[in-house]
Amino acid sequence: MKELGFECCFCGESIESNKTDPCDINVLINIDKQKDKQYNQTFYCHLMCFKKVITSRVPLYLEHLVSE
Ligand SMILES: [Zn+2]
Repeated sequence: MKELGFECCFCGESIESNKTDPCDINVLINIDKQKDKQYNQTFYCHLMCFKKVITSRVPLYLEHLVSE
């Protein structure tokens, strides 16, 4: 059986399973609208690639949770 692979939406590289990866990002558009106007898409990424693109003002607790 072929294993499903994940491709990082930021760097385009495949994502190997490790302590933090693969990650997924769910984007829900129109969150201030009614449910029938909302649409969801899931993206996959490396946690490190995600960290590179988010502003440092956004707290990221995920690594801390995994390392405990
Ligand atoms: Zn990546």
